[in-house]
Amino acid sequence: MGALAQSGPAELSGAQLKMHVTELASDTYQGRRTGTEGADLARTYILGQVGDMAPCRENVLQPFSFDSRRSGESFEGKNIIGLYEGTEGNSDTIVLTAHFDHLGERNGQIFNGADDNASGTAVLIELSRFFHDVQPKHDIVIAFLDAEEMGLQGARHLVDSACLKDRRVLLNVNLDMVSRSQVSELYAVGTHHYPFLKPVLEGISTGEGLSVLFGHDLPGTGQDDWTMSSDHGPFHAAGIPFLYFGVEDHDGYHAPSDVAGDVTWDFFNVAANYILHSILAMDEQQWDTFAK
Ligand SMILES: [Zn+2]
Repeated sequence: MGALAQSGPAELSGAQLKMHVTELASDTYQGRRTGTEGADLARTYILGQVGDMAPCRENVLQPFSFDSRRSGESFEGKNIIGLYEGTEGNSDTIVLTAHFDHLGERNGQIFNGADDNASGTAVLIELSRFFHDVQPKHDIVIAFLDAEEMGLQGARHLVDSACLKDRRVLLNVNLDMVSRSQVSELYAVGTHHYPFLKPVLEGISTGEGLSVLFGHDLPGTGQDDWTMSSDHGPFHAAGIPFLYFGVEDHDGYHAPSDVAGDVTWDFFNVAANYILHSILAMDEQQWDTFAK
């Protein structure tokens, strides 16, 4: 189906988003730590929900291994990578990422990781289904990444992988913690480095009390600079423009209290739809003249 098959404004389903977060943040998934059965179950759930995705050069399941920088222990991770070809028919590509792994169990407590990052995973599942029905202009790579919590390992692997090797990657849009804000604030991070992205984001209507804030990307501001703090980091390090969407750190950050019951569902819904419209607006750009 092409874009003409779409009727009414594009929208992601709040009910579906809630279902995915509630499922992935349940105790069944044991905190989705890389290399555990919980992470395997999360992959199975994601694959069952996204439907058919074409592979990007390699298999849809992209395995990789790495040594923990803390303990030296070896780990096996597995990304899920799919491709939706655009109408332009070249290999200019927008890469959408969200990590599905989290911290697992510690001292008998499960870290469910509802906001971090069942939320971004849920949005990416729905984006995948969206691009299944509505063909983008540019090629879109959908990447559910593993081992973010162990040093952005899944993203590092993807940036160097055969999938992206012969492509011109225009932009990475990374989603990590997009569902929990009592004040309805979503950060769009990266416009300090890539200022041409900002007017596009400012031109998108936010709806229902959502505030989109810019920042958390100024060099020299220590912990307040999120430029390398999630999976967009390896893209930026490779010279690829990025946009990172996420909320301010909250009480549940890397704590057992990051549970589905504390997700602010109305905020999550409007944030997810703002993200969809941002991606559609980026896909509409003529990148040869736009990106400067
Ligand atoms: Zn995260």
